[in-house]
Amino acid sequence: MNPTKVRSIIESLEENRVTLVAVTKLHTVEEIQPLYDLGIRNFGENRVQELLEKVAHFPGVAWHLIGHLQRNKVKYIAPFISCIHSIDSEDLLAEINRQAEKNGRLIDGLLQVHVAQEASKFGFPASTFLQQIREIDFQKYPHVRIRGVMGMASMVTDQNQIRAEFQQIKSFFDALKSDFPVHFDTVSMGMSGDFDLAIKEGSTLVRLGSILFEA
Ligand SMILES: *Cc1c(COP(=O)(O)O)cnc(C)c1O
Repeated sequence: MNPTKVRSIIESLEENRVTLVAVTKLHTVEEIQPLYDLGIRNFGENRVQELLEKVAHFPGVAWHLIGHLQRNKVKYIAPFISCIHSIDSEDLLAEINRQAEKNGRLIDGLLQVHVAQEASKFGFPASTFLQQIREIDFQKYPHVRIRGVMGMASMVTDQNQIRAEFQQIKSFFDALKSDFPVHFDTVSMGMSGDFDLAIKEGSTLVRLGSILFEA
């Protein structure tokens, strides 16, 4: 990690009122510690097992699950998880609600939309996203607080394509805002390679991994 560089990233995100989630996947507790010491308190992991191994080491951190989540694993993270970015089906939403209720909690969630060209990425398909979301009766899931949308741009170099994909994610957020009158405030988009562009296009939360750990 390069503390000067990370500090300047933190400052510029703060100026833009963009939340930083440090993606700690594939890094050890020792490697993560300096980010914690700089005051970062939102951490993201994409696998439940790895997340569980790290939680106890970092008191006071808000943990974000950013990768695909299987329904049978929700129970392991429900006691403490702050936000699940990868809600991609009503079945998963229902299970998060059930486990949140069991734990007497309110869990934040984001609706993941698949806008990228790669077939491997999860999320509601962009082509049917709004329609599918509007068919869900969210009042049935009062223990999940839907805060916004999450998406990933394609792994391409064409900036115009990436921009168009971010614009699409943002347009979905705007379209749904009136369906969720309170607390709908989060556009989770932007990673190490594309977060500047994501912020220009309306991101409110970036998920940064590799750039924070570079020497
Ligand atoms: C790994 C990951 C990131 C961070 O990627 P970097 O390019 O290392 O910043 C962000 N979001 C998700 C969903 C990821 O899996």
